[in-house]
Amino acid sequence: MSEFIPDSTITCPQCGHVKTETMPTDACQWFYECAACHAVLKPKPGDCCVYCSYGTVPCPPIQASGRPGAQSEGCCAA
Ligand SMILES: [Zn+2]
Repeated sequence: MSEFIPDSTITCPQCGHVKTETMPTDACQWFYECAACHAVLKPKPGDCCVYCSYGTVPCPPIQASGRPGAQSEGCCAA
């Protein structure tokens, strides 16, 4: 991997609240609670984690795979 970006800025689809979070490097985050409206976000179908669905940066395993926006073959295949 070349440029690993640990921070992803999530935009809440419910209220539009934007917050930058630091992603765990070895796990996917399935749930994310919006700090503003407390909506619990879940990944969109085909996405492996909330960062892939709502963040500006895909999760670390996806970055490592060199396939930004890669879908279906999630980094942590359920
Ligand atoms: Zn929200």
